[in-house]
Amino acid sequence: MIARVALDLALRKEFDYAVPADLEGRLEVGARVKVPFGRREILGSVVALVESSPQTNLREIKAVVGRQAQLTASVLELARWMAGYYCCPLETALKSVLPEAVRQEQEGWRERLTVRVAAAQGEPPELTKRQREVLAILEEWRELPLQELLKLAETTADTVRRLEDKGLVAIRSEVSERDPYGDETFVATQPLALNPEQSAALGAVVGALDGGAGPSVFLLHGVTGSGKTEVYLQALAHALAQGRGAIVLVPEISLTPQTVERFKSRFQHGANRTMVAVLHSHLSAGERHDEWQKIRQGRARIVIGARSAVFAPVERLGLIVVDEEHEASYKQGEAPRYHARDVAVVRAAREGAVVVLGSATPSMESYHHARSGKYRLLELPHRADAAKLPVVRVVDMRTEARKQKGPPVFSHLLHEAILQRLERREQTMLFLNRRGYSTSLQCPLCGYVAGCPNCSVSLTYHRQRQRLCCHVCGHEEAVPSECPDPKCRNPGIRYAGLGTERLEEALARQFAKARVARMDSDTLQRKSDYRRVLTDFRSGRIDILVGTQMIAKGLHFPNVTLVGIVYADLGLHLPDFRAGERTFQLLTQVSGRAGRGDIEGEVIVQAFTPFHPAIQYARRHDYLGFYDQEIEFRQALGYPPFARVALVTLRGRNEEKVQFSADHVRKELERVLVGFRDLIIAGPGPAPLARAETFYRYQVMLRTRAMSRLASMLDPWVQGLTLPEDIRLSLDIDPVDLL
Ligand SMILES: [Zn+2]
Ligand SMILES: [Zn+2]
Repeated sequence: MIARVALDLALRKEFDYAVPADLEGRLEVGARVKVPFGRREILGSVVALVESSPQTNLREIKAVVGRQAQLTASVLELARWMAGYYCCPLETALKSVLPEAVRQEQEGWRERLTVRVAAAQGEPPELTKRQREVLAILEEWRELPLQELLKLAETTADTVRRLEDKGLVAIRSEVSERDPYGDETFVATQPLALNPEQSAALGAVVGALDGGAGPSVFLLHGVTGSGKTEVYLQALAHALAQGRGAIVLVPEISLTPQTVERFKSRFQHGANRTMVAVLHSHLSAGERHDEWQKIRQGRARIVIGARSAVFAPVERLGLIVVDEEHEASYKQGEAPRYHARDVAVVRAAREGAVVVLGSATPSMESYHHARSGKYRLLELPHRADAAKLPVVRVVDMRTEARKQKGPPVFSHLLHEAILQRLERREQTMLFLNRRGYSTSLQCPLCGYVAGCPNCSVSLTYHRQRQRLCCHVCGHEEAVPSECPDPKCRNPGIRYAGLGTERLEEALARQFAKARVARMDSDTLQRKSDYRRVLTDFRSGRIDILVGTQMIAKGLHFPNVTLVGIVYADLGLHLPDFRAGERTFQLLTQVSGRAGRGDIEGEVIVQAFTPFHPAIQYARRHDYLGFYDQEIEFRQALGYPPFARVALVTLRGRNEEKVQFSADHVRKELERVLVGFRDLIIAGPGPAPLARAETFYRYQVMLRTRAMSRLASMLDPWVQGLTLPEDIRLSLDIDPVDLL
């Protein structure tokens, strides 16, 4: 028997190894193995077992890592699909589907193997002297931990395994598990009564789980607070009752203790201590290992996690839920550049599972699929608790700037509204998607702007730390006391633009008595900071919470009656065709934080382009209106969902060389893809972020409706392409970020 192995090196090549006699019949496809490679020993995954090999002089597998094949057949196939579609080596795709802690197996199990005498039947087999000794010791003790037995008998595990093979002893593993939620108790919850819309949505999903006809991908479009989660929970219960497993994907940022608790409380109580496994980036390597193994062994049947949980080794998969399906964080930024939502749809189709994509603001792609019948649309247009959607008012900051002689932090309207909430002892959330104090340091005399020496962006002033920082590469420098231009030396150099730090300061100045807290990646260094601020806010020890997109999602505070969006057009004018969609989504999400209790909420949106459709439709809670006008623009320009995009980016330190290489790439693409119908090639041109981390960046964009076919041609082309040594090329299929 021969094992075909993909090594943990991105060589784009599988190697054959002989299976040693003692592994014959035991080695499974998907197992992790240690193999000799050159003079080294490295790890790899068995991707096939074959009878013969074109290679000669096969070397032997050294060892199997772990007790069970880590890759299930279906996940292995999914990795193969991913390597093909996203144009990356299989090895790279395999790296994504297994957590590092499992791949390396260094964390190991906190496992204790115990050995006991087994009731042998029939003629006693022949034993070696050593084996008889081990058996004698064990008969005396009846049962011993393996490690102790080995010490007592002065022998190796192999001897004991031989006895196991002969049926004379039994080895059992006792696992002491690391459980990240081990300290918490979950109060069991019962299914809630559903309103008619929720019932209809659940009925459709249950029908598909029961094998009904029609598309098995659902788009659950529900306004914020419409009770989507309860629909997920009851659909999950149905899948479990069928004996099937499920995966729930949640954006990392929304994977709060609150969220996990909702799922654990429903499904994990009594004897089901391991029913729900959680996978996210805050777990220690050991916790991640154990959570993953719970799934692999079938003890956890529901997995809740961020992006990579889509690869969880759930068998008999019945349902995948992708909550907040429009979130850009489902896309991985490095190879393999997969999109977890799209992978979920592919995986479910292969395994006969049902998918529910949920969102208050579905992506243009998903809604388009729902309209065209590829997905089934389910709608929850009302809030579950019958509370009204908040009133949204848009303030024209251009007029405000004229009235107040310069753009103020707070418009008159927002200022009054905050005062009112303080008097009524209600809470306010202020949203500004930019951390730091100011956007830039500018000289009003000569026009100098402090820029990053490595990137084509201006530096942000951080007042607390008294530093200028680059948010792209992390470069930091001291704050100059005068304009650094030797011909100017103006001491009146000024900060322009507004960040959360300055917003917090302005609040302290204008509302001296208010208790203010700020939440952004500068103030939250530890996981516990996040919990502490939220607990303080919930218990009313904070009046005003200031934050970046961290506060935009999934948080429910009944006493918040005012949400202020301080600078709504911040992301609106980025050179990306999704800028409008993103702004609409963000405004809708943030607005959803207001008025979830008995009191109606109010949202005040400050904008310099108040009549932009993204802002106006968000004001009216009109998703469909936004969709209809946006889809027209996408169709006219041939952007997704009417075509798919492949983005080629070239990077290098020498701008001329990068530009030259980009020209070369364009010509090569035209040559290779000649006759490929339905293709638009645009560029090359400098990327919107033209320089990052000292690298100049140029892009070529391809658009087609036949992406699978295009990807299958691009992959070998990239492999064969020769570029100057210091020029790097990356290929992103279905990019979500064009910067
Ligand atoms: Zn100057
Ligand atoms: Zn930089």
